[in-house]
Amino acid sequence: MRLVIKVGTSTLAHSTGKLNIRRVEELCKVISDLKNAGHEIALVSSGAIGMGVGKLNLSSRPQDMPTKQAAAAVGQCELMYVYDKLFSGYNHTVAQILITGEDIENSSRRSHFVNTMERLIELGALPVINENDTVATDEISVGDNDTLAAIVATNIGAELLVLLSDIDGLYSADPKKDCSAILLNVVEKIDDNIRALAGGAGSSLGTGGMATKISAAKICMDSGVDMVIANGSGPQILYEIMQGRGRFTLFKGKKQ
Ligand code: GLU
Repeated sequence: MRLVIKVGTSTLAHSTGKLNIRRVEELCKVISDLKNAGHEIALVSSGAIGMGVGKLNLSSRPQDMPTKQAAAAVGQCELMYVYDKLFSGYNHTVAQILITGEDIENSSRRSHFVNTMERLIELGALPVINENDTVATDEISVGDNDTLAAIVATNIGAELLVLLSDIDGLYSADPKKDCSAILLNVVEKIDDNIRALAGGAGSSLGTGGMATKISAAKICMDSGVDMVIANGSGPQILYEIMQGRGRFTLFKGKKQ
């Protein structure tokens, strides 16, 4: 199966912005194992700004553009250093790809991106994709990695996109406020009811939240790609998703 896995900052880093070592080690191990089993995988990884915050010892996520971009420049290095080290331990080679919204909108740049992705997958490498935060201003940025991951998944003909987050999936109500909230196992269609279940932005270090995940689901479903939201706190969930069982929400792609 060809799949795209997206990990959010809340999965990769502690709230301090420092790396969650145990979790990232587990994540790299499971992804390596799935690759060894023959799955074609691309990883969309957030965490550049969050880790830059940790490395530069900033007290919180910066609000102004230059500091955000500086934090991303520092954090992206750290991120790739960690992935390179951990995946190398399992004999897998990582490749860094940084893109912006402009690269997707421009058809020739988009086809270069897709061709490079295809070749990397053919060569057995693991593409690790993030937005090029140091140049992506508001006008040209995709803005969040849930949407970026959906764009990647639909462009490379993936069958499945998995968004690993700090929540098990989409609930019938906010589970932090309502203890009767139940996890939705399958969503067949994005309508106003589903959109209403998504609140605002998520963690203090990342960008997304449920709203960006629902719009990512819409992009995937319209292109016939399945999408899953699952809790990244236990990366072993990836095995369960591949077997089609476990605690997560599946958004079913429209069958063409
Ligand atoms: N590109 C941002 C980063 O690496 C993350 C965007 C997002 O959290 O969606 O920090």
